[in-house]
Amino acid sequence: MLRRLLTQTSSPRRLLSSKTPFFSKPSLSPFSSLPSSPDPPSSASSHVEESGSAAAAGTTISVDRSALFNPPDHSHEPTPDSELVKHLKSVIKFRGGPISVAEYMEEVLTNPISGYYMNRDVFGAQGDFITSPEVSQMFGEMIGVWTVCLWEQMGKPERVNLIELGPGRGTLMVDLLRGTSKFRNFTESLHIHLVECSPALQKIQHQNLKCTDESSSEKKAVSSLAGTPVHWHATLEEVPSGVPTIIIAHEFYDALPVHQFQKTPRGWCEKMVDVGEDSQFRFVLSPQPTPAALYLVKRCTWATPEEKEKLEHVEISPKSMDLTQEIAKRIGSDGGGALIIDYGKDVIVSDSLQAIREHKFVNILDDPGSADLSAYVDFPSIKHSAEEASENVTVHGPMTQSQFLGSLGINFRVDALLQNCDDEQAESLRSGYWRLVGDGEAPFWEGPDEQTPIGMGERYLAMAIVNRNQGTPAPFQSLPCQSLRSEYLLKGRMYGFEALTFNIHGGYLEAIVRGHRAGLLTTADYNNLCQCENLDDIKMHLSATKYGSYLQNEPSPLHTTTIVEKCTLKLVDDYKHMLCQATEPMSTFLEYIRYGHMIDNVVLIVTGTLHERDVQELIEKCHPLGMFDSIATLAVAQNMRELYRLVLVDTPLAPYFSECLTSEDLDDMNIEIMRNTLYKAYLEDFYKFCQKLGGATSEIMSDLLAFEADRRAVNITINSIGTELTREDRKKLYSNFGLLYPYGHEELAICEDIDQVRGVMEKYPPYQAIFSKMSYGESQMLDKAFYEEEVRRLCLAFEQQFHYGVFFAYMRLREQEIRNLMWISECVAQNQKSRIHDSVVYMF
Ligand code: SAH
Repeated sequence: MLRRLLTQTSSPRRLLSSKTPFFSKPSLSPFSSLPSSPDPPSSASSHVEESGSAAAAGTTISVDRSALFNPPDHSHEPTPDSELVKHLKSVIKFRGGPISVAEYMEEVLTNPISGYYMNRDVFGAQGDFITSPEVSQMFGEMIGVWTVCLWEQMGKPERVNLIELGPGRGTLMVDLLRGTSKFRNFTESLHIHLVECSPALQKIQHQNLKCTDESSSEKKAVSSLAGTPVHWHATLEEVPSGVPTIIIAHEFYDALPVHQFQKTPRGWCEKMVDVGEDSQFRFVLSPQPTPAALYLVKRCTWATPEEKEKLEHVEISPKSMDLTQEIAKRIGSDGGGALIIDYGKDVIVSDSLQAIREHKFVNILDDPGSADLSAYVDFPSIKHSAEEASENVTVHGPMTQSQFLGSLGINFRVDALLQNCDDEQAESLRSGYWRLVGDGEAPFWEGPDEQTPIGMGERYLAMAIVNRNQGTPAPFQSLPCQSLRSEYLLKGRMYGFEALTFNIHGGYLEAIVRGHRAGLLTTADYNNLCQCENLDDIKMHLSATKYGSYLQNEPSPLHTTTIVEKCTLKLVDDYKHMLCQATEPMSTFLEYIRYGHMIDNVVLIVTGTLHERDVQELIEKCHPLGMFDSIATLAVAQNMRELYRLVLVDTPLAPYFSECLTSEDLDDMNIEIMRNTLYKAYLEDFYKFCQKLGGATSEIMSDLLAFEADRRAVNITINSIGTELTREDRKKLYSNFGLLYPYGHEELAICEDIDQVRGVMEKYPPYQAIFSKMSYGESQMLDKAFYEEEVRRLCLAFEQQFHYGVFFAYMRLREQEIRNLMWISECVAQNQKSRIHDSVVYMF
């Protein structure tokens, strides 16, 4: 676990927003050379021990102790027994025999008087180990991202119980609250419940969360960090239920007691803790089946035959199974979800229990209560326990911590923080980042070998248990492409993280957009919508989505236009929210996204006025993303020059207009030429801007914009067949980039029917599939095929990291979603449900 391998960070970190160093220089790591897996040695020699109970029964039993992991060290001088040792010995004595490893572990860690956790701060340099939240502020911030995303998927409930199991110093919660403070509706909904057995740690949490007690109760306070009520409990059962719930358990499961079993010629025996004749603790094997064997049987039913065959040792944690059942039942009935992150395995665990004192491994039986005990977490057992406990939950993962944090956007976060720090902070930030997501020794490290940061991104796993209604939580919808992630890490290796300097200050925002993506309607949602009988049914189905609150006050009978308007309003609000938080160059990038709508609005007003339509009516039809202040004035323009002089000169479209001035008249043909000329100039400009940004943004946006340019070229060609537009004029409207540029353009310019267009396009492999779907002479399916291909490419953009393309992709996917909703609503309203599938483009 991290505490074993990330021991170098020695002093408490400070937040990066200050200019002071937030990590001190790492101190020496005593463990980096230790093998990470404590699998037992496989010596075949054996000797005899007596189990206490067998001795009590007067029989001598041969027990194989050779394969026991961590045999006790008898070499030390006898020291006076601590309170805990006396207590353990008396339990063994009065029980009349040895106790299970689980009971030992439980007493050692959480005995109310002298349990390891109960009376002190065990973290950091002075303590015994260090955990991810203590390594870097980014950890808690990323968990904050996850939590906000889930809350949004839950429909933004006004009240949420945010429960953290085993909060340690409370650092994760502090970072989560600080990181999410911009999301007022979220923080205002929170009631924090900390499940903590240790009075000493409860006090530290109280301080770190800057709590003020409410009335006389210390178990109930208000955190001044976000004005949030905070309550303390010793167990999860004590936390009130009946309220939507989000649970976080980081490094909690590994502290829950485990039973250890060992295969012997007599069958599976439980490993027990006894007191030897020398008055020292020692391990013995149970002579007959123990009660925990029932859980062993259960656990083995979830193992594959191959797994079972290889097993010599098994570790099981009934407490973890019971806890998971409690979590799953709560989530199943109250809604919400749980996130479990811990050092563990995605297979049955054999023999992993370890003791850590002052950043060193020590014998498990040595001076109990003075060292932490921790075991690998058995993730399959959590999954099965949850699924067994409630039909209303789904389990996702595990995925590695590296995938988890990477998909949530930690790369952006580290980059944003790197923009604003001094050299020492930058170094600490990089090593902290590496510890959270890297694997093994940091390749970029240039300091002393013994201080090399050890990455734990692959050893920690993340799993989510969520209420079925919430759908799939971020970022479990799509596993990031392994090769891209390693390519990224490789870049970190090659350029010492220069690859990350994308000048992005909106890393956090990027992460939120990735989360929003989980809220896009799925095929299952569309299937439900297709069942609707009328538009009120559609409204009802949408009530559990992000559009719910935008439609809820709309009176019946609804119209398709209302649905589309309200959903668009939501999109615009989300866009504005992104824009408010963005800094350069992201703000400019986001602005580019709306220029297309501005062009369409200009064309709509000018064409409408040409046909003597009422300006106000036209303005209502405009896309809100393309609005600008002087838009109403467009109606007075009599010719192109006036249009430019009166209105467009003050808009970002002005530079695109120069080409349009070659014609004077505002007739239908010229307006259409104007639209395409503006669009061509806009696409070329956007393309250049993205290229200047460089890196993955340029790569991904080039691809997306090239597709857009090519699609427009095809549409211009098809729409101009049979019109008076000359070949040369037609060619001038194509954008000067894309796959079709330049040779495809030459060929498209001379096409005289749709089959010739098809002939041209089939020469380009990425477009072959689209055109081969079309039968000769027909083009109706073309729009849909293009939209489908576009959606496929937009979704792919999410697979890569550290680029702005996700903002573009997200906005476009949302627009497609609204087109889908419009089509479905229209089909339902006109009783044409059989036609729904003609135009809906599914995303997931
Ligand atoms: N999540 C924190 C601390 C992990 S250490 C971090 O990542 O930094 C384990 C935490 O769980 C400690 O706060 C410990 O006191 C608490 N704990 C351990 N066993 C517990 C139990 N059975 N009930 C409640 N809290 C427990």
